[in-house]
Amino acid sequence: MAHIICEPCVGVKDKACVEVCPVECIYEAPAEYDMLYIHPEECIDCGACVPACPVSAIFPEEDVPEQWKSYIDLNYKLAGLK
Ligand code: SF4
Ligand code: SF4
Repeated sequence: MAHIICEPCVGVKDKACVEVCPVECIYEAPAEYDMLYIHPEECIDCGACVPACPVSAIFPEEDVPEQWKSYIDLNYKLAGLK
């Protein structure tokens, strides 16, 4: 399990989450994605990034809203895991 960054981050990318992540597992995606992603194997599920995000883009994997489920695969893919 990991935390997942979803669509609200696209175009925002203020990196407030990066500042609070204790294991530095949040990375910038390639330019065409215009968002950040969480490396699922490095994330320790601490939840610190969730309240830090001004647009509520971050969810525990099991709680990702239905319309953004595709972002689960995207975070794994961007981390090179799929
Ligand atoms: S849940 Fe914790 S470890 Fe995972 S990305 Fe957020 S701040 Fe980092
Ligand atoms: S805090 Fe939210 S909007 Fe900002 S970079 Fe992180 S996930 Fe994206």
